[in-house]
Amino acid sequence: MNTPPFRIGQKVVALRDSRFGYFKKDKTYNVLDIEICDCGYITICIGKVVKDYSFEICNKCEVIRKRKGEYAFHGASNFAPIEESRTHIQYVAVSESLREKAVEIAAVETN
Ligand SMILES: [Zn+2]
Repeated sequence: MNTPPFRIGQKVVALRDSRFGYFKKDKTYNVLDIEICDCGYITICIGKVVKDYSFEICNKCEVIRKRKGEYAFHGASNFAPIEESRTHIQYVAVSESLREKAVEIAAVETN
């Protein structure tokens, strides 16, 4: 459980309506950013804020922290990852490891 179930760039579907109108049930969103509170609570960002608050409160430990710019974060439990995006994530993971390999090779060659 060290890695969050969501990744930036992933498509997710909302499981319920936001009480404040941030997201709607069954609508799909892109994960723009992910934050993990010190208490382990995971929130994801799916878009700009509707209302202009400069802080947010963790739903789990109730710690208040400053909002990142004008983006709102919501509890990850409100969303489910969409299956189809998994192939894209794997592709990104593969190309990242290939890039690391290329950097390793380049480092060896220059030494
Ligand atoms: Zn917290």
